[in-house]
Amino acid sequence: MSVNFLISQAKIIQKVIDANASEIEKLDQNIGDGDHIFNVQRGLKLVVELESTIKDLPLSKALNMIAMKVLSGIGGSSGALFGTFFMSMAKTSNLEEVNFSKACEMIISGVNAMKDRGKADVGEKTMMDVLIPVSQKLNEIKNENIEKNQGLKEVIKIAEERMLATKDMLATKGRASFLGERAKGHIDPGARSSQLIIETICKSVINE
Ligand code: ADP
Ligand code: MG
Repeated sequence: MSVNFLISQAKIIQKVIDANASEIEKLDQNIGDGDHIFNVQRGLKLVVELESTIKDLPLSKALNMIAMKVLSGIGGSSGALFGTFFMSMAKTSNLEEVNFSKACEMIISGVNAMKDRGKADVGEKTMMDVLIPVSQKLNEIKNENIEKNQGLKEVIKIAEERMLATKDMLATKGRASFLGERAKGHIDPGARSSQLIIETICKSVINE
């Protein structure tokens, strides 16, 4: 993982999110307030705009700047949660080379920090339904020396299954929790955007 990688991924993710924007917007209109797509698109734009400022910085400094931008520039639950994610990634990254295993470690710590911040666990119909199982799989890949591309293909599958599984859940965190039974039958918007982001990054790394 490098600053260059982060920026290039943000640009590719922008395209994928834009291509699925109306679906994500509808999902948050169904069980939230409709702004999730706007928050995600704004976050990505802020990261891409940082390119010239961060491109020559050490990874930890660049991640810190991204975290600050995201925390101050995006509203909603997602701003606070993704800001926390990048902040924790910045803390775990050191100045030495960040190989695949270290990158997994950084992502795992980022997801743990989000979990602490939002207090949501698996089964509560949030983006954590996708992110926690993905982070557990990354831990397995890292510790059990599972072949990288095979492991990442499994990550893509887990993310999709867990995103779809939010459809029949009751929400116990976030705005959707006010809906009770009415939240059932709708996929969680944050789970869908997170799944698209994970799929995009995994595919890039597989094709590297
Ligand atoms: P808001 O809910 O404040 O309008 P967004 O629309 O940007 O913020 O994000 C909504 C998404 O945030 C939900 O779909 C859900 O995945 C996620 N979310 C909400 N509350 C939490 C929480 N406590 N922990 C983790 N994720 C959450
Ligand atoms: Mg919203």
